[in-house]
Amino acid sequence: MSRAYNFSAGPATLPEAVLRQAQEEMLDFRGVGASIVELSHRGPEFIQVAAEAEADLRRLMGIPQDYAVLFTAGGATTAQALIPLNFAAPGQVADYVVTGHWGKTALKQAAPYVTINLAANTEAGGFRDAPPPSTWSLSKDAAYVHYTANETIHGVEYRDIPDVGEVPLVADFSSSIASEPLDVSKFGVIYAGAQKNLGPVGISVVIVRRDLLSRAGQPRADIFNYASNLAAESMLNTPPSWNWYLLGLTVKWMLAEGGVEEFARRNARKAALLYTTIDQSGGYYRNEVVPAARSRMNVPFFLHDAALDAPFLAEAKDAGLISLKGHRVLGGMRASIYNAMPEEGVQALAAFMQDFQRRHG
Ligand SMILES: *Cc1c(COP(=O)(O)O)cnc(C)c1O
Repeated sequence: MSRAYNFSAGPATLPEAVLRQAQEEMLDFRGVGASIVELSHRGPEFIQVAAEAEADLRRLMGIPQDYAVLFTAGGATTAQALIPLNFAAPGQVADYVVTGHWGKTALKQAAPYVTINLAANTEAGGFRDAPPPSTWSLSKDAAYVHYTANETIHGVEYRDIPDVGEVPLVADFSSSIASEPLDVSKFGVIYAGAQKNLGPVGISVVIVRRDLLSRAGQPRADIFNYASNLAAESMLNTPPSWNWYLLGLTVKWMLAEGGVEEFARRNARKAALLYTTIDQSGGYYRNEVVPAARSRMNVPFFLHDAALDAPFLAEAKDAGLISLKGHRVLGGMRASIYNAMPEEGVQALAAFMQDFQRRHG
């Protein structure tokens, strides 16, 4: 058996060690005689898995005690709809910064519940930049300011945490959570679907400053109420236990590898190698994002001639490099290089790109 280097944007590659442990524990979870996914979520085995996942994530990210951590189903998109329902009064103004596809999605999910103030929007320029917070037109009485830390499709990333004063900062970290040290105390809410950088699809993490949970929000079913979910320890109904377990294994792996400081170093080296390969190709490959806003996690790039796309993908696949096809809204190629992508994978991709250029130049 040989595993390819998988550059999928999400669901994305998982650490091989995590998959092997899950495989080993699949039929008999630590001597219980059943898989963890066949056991009650109220039983001692799963309660321990869930508690460890939270404790480990808190340690990995340095999440302060005045922040709650929720594990939810429904993906980041559902969080985008629940955020206005939980943290804004009906029709209250909320500021949205749109720097790519996912910022647009967040706005679309919130629009039925709040009055959107579009504080910044780079769509006219093709989503190639991350305008500094000093240029955002924020409203005075906003319920919160929402932005996307890393735009997974357009490859645009905010590295510095925006200072928006007293208004809670709500951030979509789906594709860059735990990729480098982050001062969680600067945020009101951080949310992320797990399937990019934290583990499997089917579970999301919502990190909320606890005082915000006392906001009345809007009329909603109890299952959509974050405070109720917290009171029930994210088990108001049956949680996605297999996904929660895999997330826990992935977080443990990240801690064992050296934590976010180590991943920050690896991720910086991986991104630098790939962007250098693109920039030094003499225009054979190109990335169109303003250099200061280039994502460390998702590297979209185009070949100088779109007729080369199909051979590039076919030959990459033969070389054991898969899932490089760009998102349909952008075309071209995209290499997603999250924590679980080893440096050897990016080195192999860079070498392949140079070789492909030599052969098809
Ligand atoms: C993938 C992604 C989403 C959507 O996540 P789902 O789990 O499919 O709802 C939202 N925001 C960002 C930044 C993403 O990368």
